[in-house]
Amino acid sequence: MSRIHLLSPRLANQIAAGEVVERPASVIKELLENSLDAGARRVDIEVEQAGVKLLRVRDDGSGIVEGDLPLALSRHATSKIQQLDDLERVNTLGFRGEALASVSSVSRLTLTSCAAGADQGWQVETEGRDMEPRLQPAAHPQGTTVEVRDLFFNTPARRKFLRTEKTEFSHLEEVVKRLALSRFDVAFSLRHNGRPVFNLRPAQTEQEARRRVATVCGPAFVEQSVTLDVERGGLRLWGWVGLPTFSRSQADLQYFFVNGRMIKDKLVAHAVRQAYRDVLFHGRHPTFVLFMELDPGVVDVNVHPTKHEVRFRDGRMVHDFLFSSLHRALADQRPGDTTQPEA
Ligand code: ADP
Ligand code: MG
Repeated sequence: MSRIHLLSPRLANQIAAGEVVERPASVIKELLENSLDAGARRVDIEVEQAGVKLLRVRDDGSGIVEGDLPLALSRHATSKIQQLDDLERVNTLGFRGEALASVSSVSRLTLTSCAAGADQGWQVETEGRDMEPRLQPAAHPQGTTVEVRDLFFNTPARRKFLRTEKTEFSHLEEVVKRLALSRFDVAFSLRHNGRPVFNLRPAQTEQEARRRVATVCGPAFVEQSVTLDVERGGLRLWGWVGLPTFSRSQADLQYFFVNGRMIKDKLVAHAVRQAYRDVLFHGRHPTFVLFMELDPGVVDVNVHPTKHEVRFRDGRMVHDFLFSSLHRALADQRPGDTTQPEA
């Protein structure tokens, strides 16, 4: 008797969801990345009960054409790459075509969209059932709204792993903050249980960028940090580094972006630690919001869908550059200095 059978699409998606959808914060990450990939200039986020009851992301991006709506929810369906070669130069945040399929298999999901140039919007709904989404017309301005309700309603085992509303919300807020720091040019708003958490206008000037950093990281951080902007050998590093006097007992104010993507990397962490070594007390953690830009061809950011790792072709050069830039920025800082960008 035969024992091998194909998994149903639903079960296959739920298993895949186990890897990418851990908690509401992972859902918001996927939805926001999709909005940014769609060229959104403004993203409005509304959550209830830390996103377990409701997560709604609305954007003014390119939208999805009617015929593509059901496909958007299918596994391995993406508009972002066509062939293996494209992976070499992928510049979107997503490309695996898994997120919406996974999320919709463990929640009640509604996707409403109006594509640029279309004369009306359309909506598909799924209820964590097999993929047979209902398509119907719906009023929507250009852009997309994804509504995710009752996360993990059909996977009680996963639901059990959720922490308190406060903890889940702080994870979710952290994800929004990271993305808001990665795209100063995009407006973001976040509401939780009907109350505004923040409302970030697009930041075009240095002043406005500084204000966004102050909103996201707290005013004390920008006041007690040095700005830097250094370029050498095809590498650029700019941003804010906290003065040693503004260190923290936890490594919770550390943002490092490589070509616009937030990463956490051993090599980077080591270079930063070295730069602060002589000025920071043992057990204290530095604070920073830093952006490194380099030729996309010498860094691989697609190592893992959820982990924030990168691979630098010339790690040693990157390490030296980071260490010396940060070391100098900190050493140049004298009490009373204003925060002038470094030449
Ligand atoms: P991926 O982002 O890896 O392509 P997703 O499952 O996240 O996979 O999304 C599937 C597809 O749905 C995307 O490739 C994109 O074409 C479309 N899509 C999803 N969200 C949006 C959005 N907010 N705006 C426009 N298109 C979207
Ligand atoms: Mg995606």
